Amino acid sequence: MKFLISACILGVPCRYDGKSKPSEQIEELMLRHTLIPICPETAGGLPTPRTPCEIVGAKVISKNGEDRTLQYMNGAKKCLELFKKEGCDGVILKTKSPSCGKGLVYDGSFGGTLTSGDGITAKLFKFYGIKIYTEEDIPLLLNR
Ligand code: SF4
Repeated sequence: MKFLISACILGVPCRYDGKSKPSEQIEELMLRHTLIPICPETAGGLPTPRTPCEIVGAKVISKNGEDRTLQYMNGAKKCLELFKKEGCDGVILKTKSPSCGKGLVYDGSFGGTLTSGDGITAKLFKFYGIKIYTEEDIPLLLNR
């Protein structure tokens, strides 16, 4: 199967802090499926490292108060275009991110509290009915 995958799960140091978050079993997954890396935040024009952002209402705001909604939206749209162009079967996204998070994101207080909701890119994929997995689903995907 073919998936778009959050690049930081693959080991690309594209997180806000300039680090990656490689998942265990990622090499096994690479052998079994075609994985195409995406990072919606950098695709939307944000640098690495960058000031962390959280979702506040309908906007994405950085820790120092700048509105980054446009960059997040642009990055999400580019990832959706790539998904369609590549004819992917689904996406594997990093949990809790304001872009990639599925089901749970930080609550906008920058206090480390999670709340229910989706990141901007996850929300767009969900709107289009695209199957979303997270790095926690990798063991399941190894059996496909
Ligand atoms: Fe990883 Fe997604 Fe954040 Fe990029 S936007 S660093 S892929 S969680």
